[in-house]
Amino acid sequence: MENFKFKKEFGQNFIFDGNLLSAIVSDAGITSDDEVLEIGAGAGTLTKKLCEKAKKVVSYEIDKNLTEHLYEIQKQNQNLQVEMKDALKENIDEIEKHFSGNYKIVANLPYYITSPMIFKFLEQTQRVSSMTVMVQKEVAERFSAKENSKEYGIATIMINYHADVEYLRTVGRQMFTPPPNVDSALIKITPANKEKANNDEIFALMVKTAFSSRRKTLSNNLSKLGISKSDVDNAIGDFGKPPTTRAEQLSIHEFILLSNKLQKFVKI
Ligand code: SAH
Repeated sequence: MENFKFKKEFGQNFIFDGNLLSAIVSDAGITSDDEVLEIGAGAGTLTKKLCEKAKKVVSYEIDKNLTEHLYEIQKQNQNLQVEMKDALKENIDEIEKHFSGNYKIVANLPYYITSPMIFKFLEQTQRVSSMTVMVQKEVAERFSAKENSKEYGIATIMINYHADVEYLRTVGRQMFTPPPNVDSALIKITPANKEKANNDEIFALMVKTAFSSRRKTLSNNLSKLGISKSDVDNAIGDFGKPPTTRAEQLSIHEFILLSNKLQKFVKI
């Protein structure tokens, strides 16, 4: 590892601090019954800590330059399986072959794949019991935002439509090698059986369009979908919201009601 060259294109910001690594494993609630998927092993520092607690750890890493180093760690840990592959491209069935039942995800993810990675596991499988992931602080704030705040938006609604999100701890940029330009936060995403709209695709489109211009009213934004303002105003009036309402003033439940009422006007 001495001569290792960190690669920006792989989002490589490693953690070497033992206290932080232990805190991540403990926040994830890993016990000797757990099978764990780690995405982005890097130098294997978190991997080793996970192996101390878990029944089994499967660790994906895209950077072939880390192969020898990670295979060496695998040799020393009977419960570790290293996969030198792109976890984002890997078929979910292929990943899940390694596990006997449900599994937990723990990852210090590269920032640019945070959302695709999280939504891949939220949308394509029921077998993930929790995801404890390090993300950019701003992303963590958006995921855990409350209504009527400037952080509340598409990301908040789309993740909370599938899961509960807990903001665990802020992690300063100086904790990483090399330090990134932003601070991070550890969050725990717990998939849950939540209320769903009649049509997920229309729901997603409606949420996206409702927030397309944050200063405009809901009915103004939704008119982009060809829905008349009076239809929107009637629909939100049914749950007591005035025509001046903006997207950030609607709860997820209200977005679901709205989507179900207006779906007949939307072509997809
Ligand atoms: N978990 C380590 C490394 C974090 S940096 C630590 O905490 O120190 C993120 C790691 O993810 C890097 O090693 C990077 O090479 C790897 N990575 C980036 N994209 C990936 C992908 N699509 N699949 C698997 N690993 C990936």
